[in-house]
Amino acid sequence: LRPAGRDRRRSRVSGDPPALVEFSNVRKSYGPTLAVAGVSLAVGDGEFVALVGASGSGKSTLLKTVNRLIDPTAGAVRFAGDNVEGLPLAALRRQIGYVFQSVGLFPHMTVGENIAIGPRLVGERLAGERIARLLELVDLKPEMADRLPDELSGGQRQRVGVARALANEPRLLLMDEPFGALDPITRDALGDRVRALHGEFGLTTVMVTHDMAEALLLADRVLVMDAGKVVADETPHALLSGAGGAIAQGLVAVPRAQADRLAELAR
Ligand code: ADP
Repeated sequence: LRPAGRDRRRSRVSGDPPALVEFSNVRKSYGPTLAVAGVSLAVGDGEFVALVGASGSGKSTLLKTVNRLIDPTAGAVRFAGDNVEGLPLAALRRQIGYVFQSVGLFPHMTVGENIAIGPRLVGERLAGERIARLLELVDLKPEMADRLPDELSGGQRQRVGVARALANEPRLLLMDEPFGALDPITRDALGDRVRALHGEFGLTTVMVTHDMAEALLLADRVLVMDAGKVVADETPHALLSGAGGAIAQGLVAVPRAQADRLAELAR
């Protein structure tokens, strides 16, 4: 992996890409728990954004307000300018690929059928060549299409999850701890693959991760969440130069200390 971060300004200014996703004072409470405590920010078209923070800081809840797996208690989320609550759910979701840690493949369906499920839900049939092409994009052989999910390794299943998310040719890719359950080598390779696909297809990507190293290596922009709020919004370069405040720097300190210790051991 190499740092993908380009130098983006901290705040969006004119000349930045137009926003694809906009959160306006988004709040979500579960009874007494305020999971998201007022988030306002815009994700520009083409950005690769990582949402980082401790477990329970509200990352997953915020992400799911975009494809309406969760509706906010207050505030609004806009996708390409439209309030998502006013859009037909199928029309919204067909523009948004969603990858999550447990993958969620249907066990009784083949890999090919799993990949084609999104288009099928909107009445379209994916051609065999298209399924083969999607498998190829995630470095799997076309023959995999006939296998059942049980016959795949965890890494192969997650690759299928990515292929499925791309089947509808989405504009936006949402990923919730997508690589969390994978071994480090598979994780690294699949992270690189996703970053390449993001560029190749001009996607906008928002990835939830608790791993700051992964965020720094893959994203253009890192949002740090704490107790339901976004407490830092920086480029990887700025974070590595000390920006973002105490909570962000606490998260950056972990991979930095590991890198220092490894360098020490190699001496
Ligand atoms: P993260 O993704 O950063 O781990 P979450 O968005 O999953 O955080 O959770 C934020 C907070 O909301 C946590 O305190 C969590 O316990 C709570 N929470 C999340 N989902 C629910 C739910 N369905 N019911 C009740 N509380 C929830």
